Amino acid sequence: TALIEARDVTLSFGETPALRGASFRAEAGEIVAVMGPSGSGKSTLLHCLAGILVPDSGEVTFTGDRIDQMSETRRSALRRDRFGFVFQFGQLVPELTAQENVALPLLLGGVRRAAAMERARVWFERLGLSGMEGRRSGELSGGQAQRVALGRALVAEPEVLFADEPTGALDSLTGEQVMELLVGSAREQGTTVVLVTHEPRVAAYADREVIVRDGRVAMTEGVAS
Ligand code: ADP
Ligand code: ADP
Repeated sequence: TALIEARDVTLSFGETPALRGASFRAEAGEIVAVMGPSGSGKSTLLHCLAGILVPDSGEVTFTGDRIDQMSETRRSALRRDRFGFVFQFGQLVPELTAQENVALPLLLGGVRRAAAMERARVWFERLGLSGMEGRRSGELSGGQAQRVALGRALVAEPEVLFADEPTGALDSLTGEQVMELLVGSAREQGTTVVLVTHEPRVAAYADREVIVRDGRVAMTEGVAS
């Protein structure tokens, strides 16, 4: 059974159709790459799966529950408590230290500061960033900032990690380091990953890939589902 699934989803931005009957599923622990040309609807599909956007028609389910029928309050709680996000640009909070950025989801989830900061610190070792806990985003390289963003996305052990072009702003070597850490950590935690990318080298880290064209999932490859 699917952990997260979209069935025949449509969504338009005004007159622009972004999704035109897209279906997608990911099993628990599976890492699925979503590929396809620019403008084909990859990000919109991710946003629907993550409960950021509500489709015009079709169904989105997570553990069998209809995300598309939830109130904004419930969707927001789901995103905070059970999903993690990493985007092309880390979007760290510049006023906070790197460690505070990683601790943030725990603090928002009600974990006390000392415990949250300690759990965040452990991530700095895992990410190869020991000694950088006190830096702010302006004092980190692009790759370091993206690793911090990855720690922030995973620290609360989400069931699903949504990654939208996580290496898009990085050179290929730095991108590979980020992908090694992303995939390694997700496997360790059993986190399902929905990975939007247009780079075949990045998609190669996934168990399976789907290709989006003109708002539909046109093709799937790799491990049978
Ligand atoms: P991809 O991620 O594959 O590049 P997107 O899902 O971002 O594609 O976009 C799909 C289509 O929807 C494109 O035509 C894009 O311009 C349009 N689109 C995406 N987001 C918006 C938005 N917020 N407002 C208007 N049009 C949008
Ligand atoms: P992506 O790499 O996800 O395709 P884009 O640069 O296409 O990123 O879009 C970045 C943001 O702008 C997204 O949040 C998307 O929803 C929004 N967007 C994309 N196309 C449009 C559009 N035509 N009008 C308004 N917003 C858009």
